[in-house]
Amino acid sequence: MQKTELKPSYYDQFACIGGACEDTCCAGWRIDIDKKSYQKYKNEKNPTIKDALKKNIQRNRQGQNDLQYGKFKLDADGKCTMLDEENLCTIQKTLGEKALCHTCTIYPRQNIQINQTIEKSLDTSCPEAARLILLNKNGIDFIEDKADIPTFSFNYLEQKDEIHDYFWVNRMFMIQVLQNRTHPIELRLLLIGLYMKKLESLPLKARYKQAEKLAATYLPLASDPELENIYINIEPNYIKQQQLTAYVLKNFSTSSNRFRLVAGLSFEEKDLEKTDILQNIEKFENFIHHYKIIYNDHELIQTCLENYLVNLIFANYHENNSQTVLSFFNYMMIQFVLIRLLIIGNLNKFKMNEDDIVNIIQAFSKAALHNSHYIPKCLELISLKEYSKVTQALHILKL
Ligand code: SF4
Repeated sequence: MQKTELKPSYYDQFACIGGACEDTCCAGWRIDIDKKSYQKYKNEKNPTIKDALKKNIQRNRQGQNDLQYGKFKLDADGKCTMLDEENLCTIQKTLGEKALCHTCTIYPRQNIQINQTIEKSLDTSCPEAARLILLNKNGIDFIEDKADIPTFSFNYLEQKDEIHDYFWVNRMFMIQVLQNRTHPIELRLLLIGLYMKKLESLPLKARYKQAEKLAATYLPLASDPELENIYINIEPNYIKQQQLTAYVLKNFSTSSNRFRLVAGLSFEEKDLEKTDILQNIEKFENFIHHYKIIYNDHELIQTCLENYLVNLIFANYHENNSQTVLSFFNYMMIQFVLIRLLIIGNLNKFKMNEDDIVNIIQAFSKAALHNSHYIPKCLELISLKEYSKVTQALHILKL
């Protein structure tokens, strides 16, 4: 059967900017080597590079599959040891693009086949991809086409008809609500949360059956002024927001210098210590109240947050055994709240032009989302046993 592909319209525009990149992907995290490339590197004959290859790659005994068979050694700054002094990849320079391993070939692309459709997206942890994703003034649009013959492998997810329909209804609903700009981004997320609460109250089978009807009922509310009244009546939970901020800024350890810089500058005021704001709830609230006026009126921040969330839904929501739309909603809300805190926390330092916003979101994506403890730890922090999971997420939405 002919496969189709679905991708954001900017997907094919992506091109790595190599040595001009402000945060090379060849640093700050483990770089996996697939088994075939590992063996090729070990047996390389080219005299310019063979010794360096032998010295700078190693087996990854903890690897879970052949894609994680080996890894590149990193230097004291966490950079790949195959980079030259201009941050250029010596494998690509000497042996050409075809010699790159699977990880280096596909990054920052994320591809998955769901039934007969190959879905292609980009990851915000790469600055160049982040610019393409976040700076779409009119919102992200998607194109569907006949699929080319794939040149590299990707994950496959098979969904039964009932689950596939449910997945599509949920995904379309979330994206349509987020791209309706009648209300600020918080109100759009609130509406998605109300839909999730309704789903949460139903047994699983009923969710599959009723999702389409529910989505059709909730969608018109995205343009309804009434949504404002619902939002006004939500109690903000600043204690949880302060705890999340303290974790992200003080207790989260990362090797990313860019993230440390963004986190280090945030929530600092002229006459106030950062620790005061992170420990004293009144000072924290005052800081948020003061800067939320600028945040609320900042059109570019709103656009970038919308695009971040739409990309996140498209790339990372897959209804399957390990993830439901409800668990995805909480995962998305945590990310939204953390990025918003980093933005608000830095509003007194940066103008929040395109470069500033891309910088914050890219640094966050690279440091936090490629770390397996980060989001679970944050979900633990907002966990309040007396509320449902969706309600917990809504408590940290209100500013
Ligand atoms: S982070 Fe992106 S632009 Fe930078 S070197 Fe890697 S792929 Fe290229």
